[in-house]
Amino acid sequence: MRVLVTGGAGYVGSHCVRALCDDGVDVVVFDSLAAGHREAVDTRATLIVGDLADAGLVDSTLAGGGYDAVMHFAALADVGESVREPLKYYKNNVGATLTLLGQMRDHGVKSFVFSSTCAVYGIPSSVPIAEGTPRKPISPYGRSKLAIEWALEDCAKAWGLAATSLRYFNAAGAALDGSIGEDHDPETHLIPLVLQVAAGKREEIKIFGVDYPTPDGSCVRDYVHVADLANVHRKALETQVEGAFRFYNVGSGVGVSVKDLIEKARAVTGKDIPAAPAPRRAGDPPELYADPTKAMAELGWQPEFSDIKKTLETAWQWHQSHPSGFSS
Ligand code: UDP
Repeated sequence: MRVLVTGGAGYVGSHCVRALCDDGVDVVVFDSLAAGHREAVDTRATLIVGDLADAGLVDSTLAGGGYDAVMHFAALADVGESVREPLKYYKNNVGATLTLLGQMRDHGVKSFVFSSTCAVYGIPSSVPIAEGTPRKPISPYGRSKLAIEWALEDCAKAWGLAATSLRYFNAAGAALDGSIGEDHDPETHLIPLVLQVAAGKREEIKIFGVDYPTPDGSCVRDYVHVADLANVHRKALETQVEGAFRFYNVGSGVGVSVKDLIEKARAVTGKDIPAAPAPRRAGDPPELYADPTKAMAELGWQPEFSDIKKTLETAWQWHQSHPSGFSS
């Protein structure tokens, strides 16, 4: 099997590339390296450095490439930035993906696995979130992902595309051997920031909102390990159905509050990790965690990391061996 992986040098993409290579899949990574890292790409995969906006390069890559499927990770994913610069998000996440889908159709590639997000649900009326929850995204980022879900549903009907949309909750953790992990610039995510405080690189972690209607007043999220994300992509690829649009929530199924996560990080790292209350961050829903039973039942997937401490241990190991990320 031969698979084109867009964004395969990024955080989630690189873990999936590695899992596919382990399975003996012939992987070609297409990545601009704007946010991804060359060092993150498995040496068994071929890397094409290019921008998805370069329609000519995408076309020549697909033409005669003999691909069985495309896994599409490449996207902009900063919710706050999407609010400030919506057109950038529609152009990248919607425009470039539509072009990619059109070229797949033209070149007869009919299997697509899509990185979607729990942000398509906006602020759900109840948790855990099952797939039947109405999709009412509140950010341009979430809307851009929902727009592609609509397109996938229509393409499945119109030309038989086999499409699976995986709605990630909060990707977390690092490879168990410590070789690849999370490295964003600038870093905005809770776990790497908490670990930077543990490592003495930041003074304190700010808790964005302590007055939410949650058990301890801080936001609750579902941190799903990247190894589990990689596995669900494998399963999605193996079970694709021609002409069907399938969609799954991909989370650990466990809600963890910001305060609880910091406490667990103290235990894992043995460090103090000073934390201070701060105002709410715009656009943050109080509580998001998945009901992942549909993916488990239909894809035969089983998340292995439901204990946040184990996830934090892998992230801490990566952090210690790569204090400056991939440039360490
Ligand atoms: N968060 C926080 N302090 C930070 C960064 C994040 O309290 O410095 C909170 C944020 O408000 C959210 C949770 O941590 O409730 C996870 O945020 P992250 O940015 O990691 O992921 P998101 O949920 O936005 O996808």
